[in-house]
Amino acid sequence: ILYLEGEDKKEIIIPKQPLTSIKKTGDKERIVILGTGWASLAFINNIDLDKYEVIVVSPRNYFLFTPMLTAATVGSVEVRSITEPIRRILKRLSKCGSQFIEAECIDIVYNDNYIIIKDASTDYPGAVTSFPHVEIPYDKLVIAVGSMPNTMGTKGVTENCLFLKEAGDARKIRTKIMDCFERANYPGISEIEQRNALHFLIVGAGPTGVEAAGEIYDYIYDDLAKIFPKEIIAKCQISLIQSAEHLLNTYDKKIIDYTEKEFQRSNINALFSSRVTEVQPRKIVVVSKIDKRSYEIPFGMALWCTGVGPRPLTQKFCDSIPEQSNNRAISTDVYLRAIGVPKKNVYAIGDCSTVTQQKLLDHLKEMFKEADENGDDKLSIDELLHLVKNNIQRYPQLEPFVNRLPQEFAEFDVNKDNFLQFDEFQHLIEKIDSNLTTLPATAQVANQMGIYLAKTMNNMTKDPSQDYLDQKIQPFRYKHLGSFAYIGHHNAVADIPGKFSGGGFGVWWAWRAIYLEKQFSLKNKFLVSLDWSKTILFGRDISR
Ligand code: FAD
Ligand code: MG
Ligand code: MG
Ligand code: MG
Ligand code: MG
Repeated sequence: ILYLEGEDKKEIIIPKQPLTSIKKTGDKERIVILGTGWASLAFINNIDLDKYEVIVVSPRNYFLFTPMLTAATVGSVEVRSITEPIRRILKRLSKCGSQFIEAECIDIVYNDNYIIIKDASTDYPGAVTSFPHVEIPYDKLVIAVGSMPNTMGTKGVTENCLFLKEAGDARKIRTKIMDCFERANYPGISEIEQRNALHFLIVGAGPTGVEAAGEIYDYIYDDLAKIFPKEIIAKCQISLIQSAEHLLNTYDKKIIDYTEKEFQRSNINALFSSRVTEVQPRKIVVVSKIDKRSYEIPFGMALWCTGVGPRPLTQKFCDSIPEQSNNRAISTDVYLRAIGVPKKNVYAIGDCSTVTQQKLLDHLKEMFKEADENGDDKLSIDELLHLVKNNIQRYPQLEPFVNRLPQEFAEFDVNKDNFLQFDEFQHLIEKIDSNLTTLPATAQVANQMGIYLAKTMNNMTKDPSQDYLDQKIQPFRYKHLGSFAYIGHHNAVADIPGKFSGGGFGVWWAWRAIYLEKQFSLKNKFLVSLDWSKTILFGRDISR
């Protein structure tokens, strides 16, 4: 029932309709892709649009360059300089055949090959009642819905903390910082209250938390210090709370030491081995893992930067499939196909997915039997080589091992008889399996997954009954190119495997050059450079 305004509040009855469905028009296979983040954009940029009809569904009609979102919170760059409208991207790629629908996918009916979407507009009155749910049938579905901040069930986080994940968060943080400064400057406010208002607390000292601390530091001491009274600036404090024993704890030890030293020099507080148990409107409760006591820490602004968890759709999808036991992400095989979908036409990439790699150890006996071609219960180096060559596609962990085969063979042939006995073979396999690690939730992984999946689909023969191995399709392999983090004060750290690990002013320049290069379009590159020049010349924008 709808009430129309203008006319005399007339009542009209909408007949109950079946769900609208977006029918296929041409004979191209249709790929529906969920999301407009890193994984989907890499996919869209590489998929052959002459071969497939592509429909992109996302509640967000733009791509966001997340590695610079932290810089946007304090206005070192503008948010709009690091976003790119998806419609513009699609238009650039194709004249026809592909389309974008701004909507949220709320259900995946994988047994019948369709999804259900819901209108996602927030500023369109009546949209929820006038735009009913719609079905979109697909031939292939790519799930790339990313993740969302994870409060880990901690009380009061949603109500009292800010997050740093979406474009809108940057604006909220900037406004909040200004609020804290203006409150501290209010006449008659006590010194204690001033200090509390100017306490900027960051929970989680991974790359995002560390970068946020660095950017807020710059904002306060480069820009706000020029316009607020000295007494106010003197009362500012930035603190990081970390449950592990170090900040950036997944990085190289050299970088950890460097960053911790730099933070000490900048007087950025770091509280280690501390777990947040509750957040109240103006204070946080932490329990120290060392003395097991709980402490209350007042703050002006608290930023929650600790970890990500699954979106409701990811959770719902996993719950509907018995084989999906990992409840944080969609488990896929090495070809990025969601495990447990009988038709094998649903893929998951980026933060919402995790690749399940098969362990060789689970098939140890069969492997040994397969390898032992002459049946003498031991393996010669040639037999081992055959085994590796025959299985390298199915087990990517064998790949780095191929070139070192003779050395490894010699090392594991403990009794030096030039053969591997079963127990020697087992030890070797254990070592090879230890190369398997879960991939981090980063843009770098999401990007490589998107490119891989698009290229795989471009080369796929149409007959779906054909096995991947028969089609000579390679499994997904991640190549880690290194990680950067900005730590404030024109200083950045970099961890590039086998090449460089450390920090400094030079690294900061490299960081800038690389991130500029990685911008989505020429327009973004131009805008980001302009923002940087503007910051150097006039300082950051200090309005709310
Ligand atoms: P996202 O990029 O998050 O995209 C998910 C998309 O799905 C969004 O468009 C979303 O609107 C859409 N969506 C959500 N729900 C639905 C639904 N129901 N239906 C349809 N669409 C939906 N990584 C790095 O490698 N280097 C960095 O320096 C780095 N810095 C970061 C800094 C910050 C502040 C943050 C937050 C992250 C950073 N990351 C970085 C991590 C990186 O952003 C993520 O790993 C990456 O965005 C994952 O890509 P994705 O495509 O899986 O998800
Ligand atoms: Mg994506
Ligand atoms: Mg993104
Ligand atoms: Mg043998
Ligand atoms: Mg031996």
